[in-house]
Amino acid sequence: MQLIDGKLISEQIKAEIAKEVKLIKEVGGKIPHLAAILVGNDGASETYVAHKVKDCEQVGFTSTLLRFDASITEEMLITEIKKVNANSDIDGLIVQLPIPKHISEAKIIETIDPAKDVDGFHPINMGRMVIGLPSYISATPAGIIELLRRYKIQTAGKNCVVIGRSNIVGKPISNLLAQKSDVGDATVTMCHSRTQNLEEICLRADIIIAALGKPEFVTAAMVKEGAVVIDVGITRLTSDKTKNGFKLVGDVKFNEVAPKCSFITPVPGGVGPMTRVSLLQNTLLSAKKAIYC
Ligand code: NAP
Repeated sequence: MQLIDGKLISEQIKAEIAKEVKLIKEVGGKIPHLAAILVGNDGASETYVAHKVKDCEQVGFTSTLLRFDASITEEMLITEIKKVNANSDIDGLIVQLPIPKHISEAKIIETIDPAKDVDGFHPINMGRMVIGLPSYISATPAGIIELLRRYKIQTAGKNCVVIGRSNIVGKPISNLLAQKSDVGDATVTMCHSRTQNLEEICLRADIIIAALGKPEFVTAAMVKEGAVVIDVGITRLTSDKTKNGFKLVGDVKFNEVAPKCSFITPVPGGVGPMTRVSLLQNTLLSAKKAIYC
């Protein structure tokens, strides 16, 4: 069994990005600039945004954090997004989700200029991805593809089972793995809460992507010998064994599944750090006008 070290790979990619930013600076080019919008003060969202700002600093990007009170109206938030859209110094814009219930998430995502939508959530980017046109690919699926690529894991002709059909993970990763591409050409089965005989379907999988958000859901009985297992799930459970009183648990029962696998990602340290670095990669692409000219 080989552990897929997302932390290590993400650090390598960050070093590659930092090197490129240094070169851009040397020739007086445009320094990539990411703007993040945070509405309210949800603890987890605060942490995620702080990580994104820190990542930008680490690679030499400029970042701007725009904070708004949870009481902001949908109209006011849309106005703020339009201001960022019009600001030519800002290359990428993310709105940290979830946002308060009185604001339509779909409307907010659709207000972001697709050319600055480095989260890849805008329907235009999703649609372009599906038909294989250049697009921003959302961070988690992009990170998974990069891990498979860098570990040279064969996907062509393989049976791949994705558990979960969310817009941000399950659907895009299923689509990407089925595409005619270097990390693609797989035969993909996308499963969800209404799927029947999930255990049987998983047992036929060469590659399992677990993205359902149910801690330790995937057991050894669901995994065939030699399979590749990518654990996307992150659930924060209380723990009396850690200093901060909680631990992060994936969707895979790691201790019993790992011995059966050829490759497996841990939680934490697998897909999570890759998600963070993918956002930086998209921001760099935007600054270079590599997707939309
Ligand atoms: P989500 O929107 O809640 O979607 C969960 C999906 O899992 C749904 O499609 C649901 O089916 C399916 N599901 C739920 N129970 C199931 C079951 N018993 N059997 C089969 N399918 C089942 O979740 P998400 O946003 O995709 O996130 C999934 C997990 O990944 C969460 O733990 C999240 O925290 C984590 N995550 C991690 C990263 C990272 O960077 N590592 C990034 C994003 C998300 P239905 O559609 O039928 O309801």
